[in-house]
Formats: sequence, C-alpha cells, structure tokens
Amino acid sequence: MSAIDLYARKTAGFDERLAQTLAQLRAAADAHGEGLVQSTSLGAEDMVITDLIARAGLKVAIATLDTGALHEQTLALIPRIEQRYGLEVEVFSPRREAVVHFVRTHGDKAMYESIELRKACCGVRKLEPLGRMLAGRSAWITGLRREQSSNRAEVPPQELDAQGRTKINPLAAWSWADVWHYIQSFDVPYNPLHDEFMPSIGCAPCTRAIAVGEDFRAGRWWWEESNKECGLHVHEKTGVTA
Ligand code: SF4
Repeated sequence: MSAIDLYARKTAGFDERLAQTLAQLRAAADAHGEGLVQSTSLGAEDMVITDLIARAGLKVAIATLDTGALHEQTLALIPRIEQRYGLEVEVFSPRREAVVHFVRTHGDKAMYESIELRKACCGVRKLEPLGRMLAGRSAWITGLRREQSSNRAEVPPQELDAQGRTKINPLAAWSWADVWHYIQSFDVPYNPLHDEFMPSIGCAPCTRAIAVGEDFRAGRWWWEESNKECGLHVHEKTGVTA
C-alpha cells in the first residue's frame, strides 16, 4: 500500500489552509526577493512546498543539504525536481576534510555511541553546510509542521531563527493527511521510502521504518532517548531545538 493510499485525505479546512500557504509564500517572495531560500530536506512536506513555489511561478531559490549519508532514493529527487520544474536545486555538502577528520577520530558508527557524538556528526554534516546555505539570505522556508512532534507543537507560521533571520513555516498548520492529499492532487514526486513506513527521512544510518502507532519521528535516531532533532531548527527566543 502506498503512502498516498495510507494517508491522503481531504480534511475540513484544507482549501483555506492551501490558500493561506500560497498567500504566505507570495508575500515572502515579494518581501525578501533573492534573499529567500527554500531549505528542502526532500521529504514529503518540502516536495509540496517546492511544487507550490513552482506552480505559482515564484522566484525562490531551492536548496538542499547532501550530508553524504542520504539514501539514494532521496538523492534521486534532486534531478527529478530539476527536470519536472525547470528549477535548479542548490546542493550544499559538508566539507570533505571535516568529515574525514570526524570519521577517522570517532569512526563511522560514532552516532550510535552517544548523543554528543551524534550531534557532533550532525554539526559537521548538516549545521555547517546549512550555515553556508543561509549566508547572505534574509529568510528561509521550511517544511516544519506542528503535528510532527511535541517539540514542534507550537511552530508558528513565521518566526525568527537564532541568527535573527525570518523563518517561514508555511505548512505549520497542515496535517499529514493534508500533505498527502496535496501530493495526490497534484501528482507531486516523492521519496518512495515514504511508501515503506518512513514518514520522516533523514540520513540512512539514522532513519528506520516506524511501526503502527509509533510517533511520526520515532524512526529518527531510534536508539536515543532524545528530542529527535539535529539542531537545524533552534528557537530564537528559547534556544530550544524543534
Ligand atoms: S543524521 Fe546521522 S549520519 Fe546524518 S548527520 Fe546526523 S548523525 Fe550524522
């Protein structure tokens, strides 16, 4: 059974949420111009946002992080986006020497040894290249939704990140059913790993399928008792990751 079969459902208020999301994206593009970037994880939510940007003809840069540890199914979405929408996806990778140094020092299974080492790996492979992606930008678009986890339960439609940039979360109020209803309605390409019970997809060593009834992000860093975050999303006011 596909993710569309499992999750797509038109729920009350979907048309209004869609209209608000489009209006928010248009306003952000007008306000920030070339200073605006969509930071896509290539997950289902971000594929919806890229589709909205493309169909509305908005001039928004699309960028992603290639951590060097992604599934091939995830990476395959980059050329699919470029072909389908005629958009360039800017790819930011970690610095090779930093990855080599980390692996030589701590081994390639370091993330399983402690939360500190896992976060250090995320720092090298994600946070440093994210910093380069956002350098010189005034605003970024994410696929955060309140429903994704208790840490994200209060995600606002717009906020400031820890560096004071505008962070736009246009799907904050969307449900998982909304995301898949949109994907089905507009035939949006998506990661086939979503069909294998991986609702939240990160690096291959740190993502597994979830079982029925498990939390949305239970398959991320499943061996940890942690908040299941990598530090990409830190609240400006609280310093708490979400
Ligand atoms: S998700 Fe895992 S492999 Fe990816 S950067 Fe973080 S610790 Fe490293």
